[in-house]
Amino acid sequence: MDDRMFRIAMGKFATGVTVITTEVDGEVHGMTANAFMSVSLDPKLVLISVGDKARMHDLIKRADKFAVNILSEEQKEMSMIFAGQIKEERNVAFEDFEGTPIIKDSIVNLACNVYDAHEAGDHTLFVGEVLNLNVQDGEPLAFFEGKYKEIS
Ligand code: FAD
Ligand code: NAD
Repeated sequence: MDDRMFRIAMGKFATGVTVITTEVDGEVHGMTANAFMSVSLDPKLVLISVGDKARMHDLIKRADKFAVNILSEEQKEMSMIFAGQIKEERNVAFEDFEGTPIIKDSIVNLACNVYDAHEAGDHTLFVGEVLNLNVQDGEPLAFFEGKYKEIS
């Protein structure tokens, strides 16, 4: 089985899109991720999968916390910025939430402490304990077959 077939197959699973944010030494870093899931109600746990080569990987280990920003369909540009799909540098305004930077106007922000981390192949699964969250109305940005989609 080659990598392309695996990506084609995994791309058939429609997901939302998140940007993971964290801060180290006063510098905010963001990374687009669709490998996100809810894990546990008691305690409240979520999971993200971050490639070992991503800058975000070491930054989460250092910060020991991160935020998950679930994007609205109006935030496709945010996804493109934090996936490196827009090459020019953009000035993104972050807000502080429980000591972690978040992207405003996301439909959900989750502030998490790292609860556990499991190495899995060329990724690390970071389990986050949700300290606090914001929810607002809006339609989610979706990702299917390697393309952004709108649900509405
Ligand atoms: P970089 O590649 O250095 O940074 C990412 C981009 O964000 C750069 O363009 C950078 O300029 C910009 N940026 C970062 N911080 C700021 C800031 N403060 N202000 C302005 N711009 C900033 N990879 C995974 O490991 N797991 C996933 O679940 C995953 N899901 C994805 C889902 C989608 C829909 C897409 C398109 C990509 C996904 N990726 C995922 C790939 C991942 O988003 C990219 O490989 C990303 O470039 C890795 O980021 P990095 O941490 O290495 O940082
Ligand atoms: P794509 O067609 O590569 O992605 C389709 C699906 O394949 C994704 O939703 C994901 O489930 C899976 N996938 C892709 N790359 C993966 C990886 N390195 N590890 C594990 N699963 C992976 O989508 P695209 O628009 O060409 O993606 C843009 C870039 O973002 C590519 O470099 C891609 O590798 C990366 N990406 C990484 C992940 C991830 O690490 N989990 C997820 C999505 C996209």
